[in-house]
Amino acid sequence: MNDLQEKILKLKKERNALILAHYYQTLPVQDIADFVGDSFALAKLAQKADKDMIILCGVRFMAESAKILNPEKTVYLPSFDAGCPMADMITPDDVLSLRKKHPEAAVVCYVNSSAAVKAVSDICCTSSSAEKVVRSLPNRQIIFVPDKNLGSYVAKSVPEKEIILFDGCCPIHDNVSVKDAETVRKTLPDAKILVHPECRSEVLEFADYIGSTAGILDYARKTDALDLVIGTEYGVFDILSRELLNKKLHILKDNFVCADMKKTGLEDILACFEGNRPPIELPESEMAGARKSLERMVGIE
Ligand code: SF4
Repeated sequence: MNDLQEKILKLKKERNALILAHYYQTLPVQDIADFVGDSFALAKLAQKADKDMIILCGVRFMAESAKILNPEKTVYLPSFDAGCPMADMITPDDVLSLRKKHPEAAVVCYVNSSAAVKAVSDICCTSSSAEKVVRSLPNRQIIFVPDKNLGSYVAKSVPEKEIILFDGCCPIHDNVSVKDAETVRKTLPDAKILVHPECRSEVLEFADYIGSTAGILDYARKTDALDLVIGTEYGVFDILSRELLNKKLHILKDNFVCADMKKTGLEDILACFEGNRPPIELPESEMAGARKSLERMVGIE
């Protein structure tokens, strides 16, 4: 631990704070967190948190979800401009016009979306729960927003439903090409390729395992295979490289980095304690609608 990390840990105790970090955060940030997890785990932990302050090291939609699920707490996003380009691709009006076009459909909204979009949806999902959430709904038609890649993956797994897609995606995962996957398969023929369903369906064809960030970590830790290709953001590669010293790890694409996830520095966390970051505030009407969609998701798992 360096001096800054020690200082943050001391303040965390004094100020009765909980620090939550996403798997895509840098290792120095992960190392001072109380918990490191994917967006679903962080949302559940924030909901149950009994500390006065929650510092969510991730991107804006994650801190918003923490505030919505536990509104009494003061929630901070250390890097205030850490957003999610996929969440920014869709507006509540886009959802409302899809609803108008498909009045019989239920709206399933990936958690990587703004509170305003969640508020006009019926239920949220994460990459690990998307299939289960879609199956749980009585509607045959499902509007799935905003990630077309995750939506297509779910559509294949749940063929009895008609999935209506929105044209959004995670630019980081969508940027992996078939050529990248082909090259890896050719150069590392015996390696297991583990891919996140935010990647394109043509890329998923090359995968030995498809799953959420938590699923990929779990698979990599448990498999006997010694050569693993990580097909998601670099943070997962970093975590596993430190842990699995007996395995050879590779990344599916160079620069597989979400710049927004890497914006959080230790100084930003310190700034939350020093009163130099505004707490997350959302309109009450937006929070109430988004809470319904999030709580329905949490209730399913
Ligand atoms: S990795 Fe993709 S989905 Fe996740 S925060 Fe970055 S842009 Fe958004």
